[in-house]
Amino acid sequence: PMASSEKDAALAAVPSDGPTIFDKIIKKEIPATVVYEDDKALAFRDINPQAPTHILIIPKVKDGLTGLSKAEERHVEILGYLLYVAKLVAKQEGLDDGFRTVINDGPDGCQSVYHLHIHLLGGRQMNWPPG
Ligand code: C5P
Repeated sequence: PMASSEKDAALAAVPSDGPTIFDKIIKKEIPATVVYEDDKALAFRDINPQAPTHILIIPKVKDGLTGLSKAEERHVEILGYLLYVAKLVAKQEGLDDGFRTVINDGPDGCQSVYHLHIHLLGGRQMNWPPG
């Protein structure tokens, strides 16, 4: 289950279309362990991993995509592409027995960073239902 401090952070997060910490990661202004990068997408290890493999896959250009609930038709291509990158990274990480992808949205979904990101979790048995 999610640590309460992380849930608190998510509930305290103010949804906005402004810059987030992920912009600094994209610009390499703060360090992150990047595992995949191309012109459209960046994947890096979560600083607070919830599984042996915990990677975030994000679009380099946010274009209003603060979260999945803000998706418009113009985002269809990047949304599909990010899922494909999740698959590539899962393969690269050797998650051959399976993995979990998650997109948290809004306060109820415990979203804390308002720049769309796909969580890729693996390397252990996942549980269902999630917390
Ligand atoms: O889905 P949610 O918005 O809660 O996920 C944000 C994630 O970003 C968290 O898992 C947090 O650990 C991660 N994070 C990070 N590096 C930062 C800030 C947050 O990996 N500098």
